[in-house]
Amino acid sequence: MIRKKIVAGNWKMNLQLEQALELVKTISNQSTDISNVDLIIFPPALFLLEIDKIKSQLKVGVQNFYPKENGAFTGEISIAQIKNCGASHALIGHSERREIFHESEEFIKQKVDAAIIHTIGVIFCCGEPLHIRENNSQFTYVKQQLIDSLFHLSDDEILKCVVAYEPIWAIGTGKTATIEQAEEMHSEIRSWIAEYYSQEIADSISILYGGSCNGTNAKELFACPNVDGGLIGGASLQAESFITIARSF
Ligand code: PEP
Repeated sequence: MIRKKIVAGNWKMNLQLEQALELVKTISNQSTDISNVDLIIFPPALFLLEIDKIKSQLKVGVQNFYPKENGAFTGEISIAQIKNCGASHALIGHSERREIFHESEEFIKQKVDAAIIHTIGVIFCCGEPLHIRENNSQFTYVKQQLIDSLFHLSDDEILKCVVAYEPIWAIGTGKTATIEQAEEMHSEIRSWIAEYYSQEIADSISILYGGSCNGTNAKELFACPNVDGGLIGGASLQAESFITIARSF
């Protein structure tokens, strides 16, 4: 079963417009020969339209949106609007949105549904905090996140999703999961997809690792049989490290 390999860059709330456009140009110029990996960038949504003009082979997504069609939701952006400005993917369930913005499982589920309705590719983020890992409850915890907000989808719908496993203790900390920890969780995630759907569907869904992944450790992480790429934060803000990661398969 050949699964899509994906390297996605979550820029978070970083960069000014000029820097963002420069980064898009450089990544795009330096990746013209990378045909075996989908590269997706998640810039601040304000920059979507300008990026759309120069993105060439790169795919562009949003870090956030509000799951209602339109209306009195001051300050929010709808999925139809972000699609209108060139986004094809959305990060949903990122731990920073869960923790800082108190996004609940139910709200995350609504975001998944809104993205599916508008044919936006879902990158569904899940992962445990440190105290859960220390209790050795990470499998129950992550499985529940998937059950609560993702596994209600139909077979056809789940096939439009990518799962990103991001242990919270590894995000932005410089402390990467070991290859054993990453492979163990990815293999469990795949087995839960098989349990709720089928082995064929489980074998088709890409599962990305996120959490201090960089140009140095990507190679061994991506060599794991169940790791199909990475969701990259800090190291996606520089073309050189992002491209090095993309070339790590
Ligand atoms: C992230 O926030 O999705 C992430 C993986 O960040 P970092 O690579 O900086 O740990």
